[in-house]
Amino acid sequence: MKYIFVAGGVMSGIGKGIATASIGRILQSKGFKVVAVKIDPYINIDAGTMNPVEHGEVFVTKDGVECDQDIGNYERFLDIESTTDNYITTGRVYKTVIEKERNLEYNGRCVEVVPDIPNEVIRRIKKAAKISKADFVLIEIGGTVGEYQNMLFLEAARMIRLQRPQDVFFILVSYLPVPGVTGEMKTKPTQYSARTLNSAGIQPDMILARSSVALDKPRKRKISIFCNVPEKNVISAPDIKSIYEVPINFEKDGLSARILKKFNLRSRNKGDLKDWKKFVNTSKTATQVVKIGIVGKYFETGKFVLQDSYISVIEAIKHASWANDKKPEIHWLLSSKYEKKSSALKELKQYDGIIVPGGFGVRGVEGKIKVIEFCRKNKIPFLGLCLGMQLAVIEFARNVCGLKDANSYEMSPDCKFPVIDVMPEQKILIKEKKYGGTMRLGEYECELRPNTISAKAYKSKLIYERHRHRYELNNEFRRKLESKGLVMAGVNPERDLVEIIEIKEHPFFVATQFHPEFKSSPLHPHPLFREFVKTCIE
Ligand code: GLN
Repeated sequence: MKYIFVAGGVMSGIGKGIATASIGRILQSKGFKVVAVKIDPYINIDAGTMNPVEHGEVFVTKDGVECDQDIGNYERFLDIESTTDNYITTGRVYKTVIEKERNLEYNGRCVEVVPDIPNEVIRRIKKAAKISKADFVLIEIGGTVGEYQNMLFLEAARMIRLQRPQDVFFILVSYLPVPGVTGEMKTKPTQYSARTLNSAGIQPDMILARSSVALDKPRKRKISIFCNVPEKNVISAPDIKSIYEVPINFEKDGLSARILKKFNLRSRNKGDLKDWKKFVNTSKTATQVVKIGIVGKYFETGKFVLQDSYISVIEAIKHASWANDKKPEIHWLLSSKYEKKSSALKELKQYDGIIVPGGFGVRGVEGKIKVIEFCRKNKIPFLGLCLGMQLAVIEFARNVCGLKDANSYEMSPDCKFPVIDVMPEQKILIKEKKYGGTMRLGEYECELRPNTISAKAYKSKLIYERHRHRYELNNEFRRKLESKGLVMAGVNPERDLVEIIEIKEHPFFVATQFHPEFKSSPLHPHPLFREFVKTCIE
């Protein structure tokens, strides 16, 4: 078992997650089994309680962990499924240590931050490694080198290296600015980052040099000399258009050869990322555009548009578009716009299809309902995801079934027709303010009804999809909705919960209570997204 640690230098947001996932993909192509672990330095037990504008998308694993979007990157790049063991936060680590202390598991001794916290981190990393039976464990340490928050994780890395130096490789993903005034790439911040890492007792084996442009020879040499890393282990990682090109780019600079050399390993096959290159090529050559609108509210942040909150949806659209040999063009549509001005709705006709993704709380909901009504009436392909399905049901109840005061318990607990309701067990949780990790989470079975769009897309009867919601379609209204033409296309057999709705006499009107976007990857585009995009094109 080999351990590859990845930490970030200079600043955040330079693509450590993509770098980690890409290294994994490359090693896979060499015939090795890979597992990835994400460490997030926050105190939160998981990402579930955080606002998406602050944290970005909350990704959900099959076993129902609400985690960081990097786990989503790993799943998409590596085509593997993660679990709770692949996700470590400061909160999780401290919680376990404190619980152990309360259970007298430290045999009466004083429990201390060092070494007990790093030891718990190491225990978790080794557990993930053992379960996976992988050849390589990639561990991404969140945050930036030099900050207080991730120090104990670096300490854990140092301790693992001390135990088994021959099995550990440490990568610093750093950033090299090119200031506009001078136009010259600067290495100093990276030098300082490497030194900060040194002062934590860690010498990086490799530096991934992120920058707007590729690294030249003199800069490579400089980093090599000042950061104490062989020149060949300074890998150039310039900005590129598509994240999916990163593995190919890394290999151009000989990344895997350097890692394998360190471990005295040889490639197990002639892996050259063949499938991956093929798909990247399609993504570049597709020219005909498919125009998709996403109606949401989590992308306003000051003057910037934040797309992180919907990252899996965006990627799923891309995968599906490329699978249909089309170029995706995604447009952000702010739901509140349709609340104020009904005339704005007409603009929706310019899109080939509309997606209403997940969301929480009442803000923006009425605008989304108007959009859904417009899509239904004007036969615009529509895909609803989680909240998107709940709102499609509300729209149908109000405007087709004549239940004017139809709503969701979440938005209006006292409404006359709660077509989306709260389950009894959820009611208790809300009352007791037990919000963290208590939604209906993770993978559930869903049985598809024959001759539906969904059944045709999935080509199977039983499917497993991931959930993250508190509210459900209220079965008391099921008959009424069905009698007016709402098709219950997928149902959870165990609890008789409606998971997919469709409308007939419409080219594509499908909405799911689950989040199909979490299971799409470039090499395995999700069937529902694929069919949706196909209809959009048609
Ligand atoms: N807010 C809704 C619920 O909790 C939908 C959640 C979502 O879209 N993920 O049921």
